[in-house]
Amino acid sequence: MNTVDYLRISLIDRCNFRCQYCMPEGVEIDYIFKQDLLTDNELLSLLKDVFIPVGFTRFRLTGGEPLLRPDVIDLVEAIASFPETKDLSMTTNGFLLSKMAKDLYQAGLRRINISLDTLDSDTFNLIIGNKGRSRWQLVWNGIQAAYEVGFDPLKINVVVIPGVNDHEVLDLAALTIGRNWHIRFIEFMPIGNDKLFDNRGWISSEELRQRIREKWGLTESFVRGNGPADIFQIPGAKGTLGFISQMSECFCDRCNRMRLSADGWLRPCLLNEMGQIDLKSSLRNGVSVGELRQQVEYLLGLKPEINFKQRESGTTGIYSRTMSQIGG
Ligand code: SAM
Ligand code: SF4
Repeated sequence: MNTVDYLRISLIDRCNFRCQYCMPEGVEIDYIFKQDLLTDNELLSLLKDVFIPVGFTRFRLTGGEPLLRPDVIDLVEAIASFPETKDLSMTTNGFLLSKMAKDLYQAGLRRINISLDTLDSDTFNLIIGNKGRSRWQLVWNGIQAAYEVGFDPLKINVVVIPGVNDHEVLDLAALTIGRNWHIRFIEFMPIGNDKLFDNRGWISSEELRQRIREKWGLTESFVRGNGPADIFQIPGAKGTLGFISQMSECFCDRCNRMRLSADGWLRPCLLNEMGQIDLKSSLRNGVSVGELRQQVEYLLGLKPEINFKQRESGTTGIYSRTMSQIGG
């Protein structure tokens, strides 16, 4: 079993996109009230006094859209400056990145994942639920800005949906040939939009690899990530291809993470609501940091059992929250 030292922190549950697979238009979302969000001080104190002392050293900022959090640059700076922080990264939709990439880098962020499911601006509009002028170019500009500022590795996340963007898999994979980018194909999960999942289904990582293999060949890469992606490379390419196969494979035994929601719930497993604890309420009710540490340590001990229990009971149709709420 892996050491659990990686915390994914949702800074906000809101988003400026309504991706079909995450928080589709027309679906009511119970947004967190402002007063229920962890404040900057609460979040930093939980990191410094609870998570770091129990062994967490790697942090990813996510959401919702983390760049919508008004004080995100200050938070990045504060978390990057903890001496124990070994790794600080962010997952973003990239919409605000062309304006913010430089400040984020200067504040100490070094790794960034940007979601981009398509190279076609109409398909992009369709996926993100945008009816106005396409935002694809802005996101693309954000990716370029991040690259130029020096983010390395620069990772692009692609959720593959049959009949929506799967015909672009080769074009997206081809981006890695001349650039040191990492394209990560994520299997579509029935979380956020069960209807789309039931209508479209999902494509396995192995099927995508087969398509890529037929075109260029594919070698398993010696570059290993620290997450659940299996890494491959088109022979001679500068970048790599990652495959995140949470539908077709069980990687619970490799899981090294927990998730903290924007309202302070600590969740041991993406696929499971068992065992979660409400750190914010405890903190506001005066529970001591020592006691909070004990609660987190207890949950760390339960985590393997929680992961495996969930896998055994199946993964479909069990989710009551979207990725944007959990902190994907
Ligand atoms: N807003 C940011 C973004 O889109 O990158 C960060 C939050 S988003 C919830 C984090 C990741 O979850 C994104 O890469 C997104 O594509 C992925 N995601 C959301 N819903 C998903 C689903 N149903 N299946 C697979 N991945 C999903
Ligand atoms: Fe927003 Fe990210 Fe969810 Fe898309 S995937 S709706 S960008 S939180």
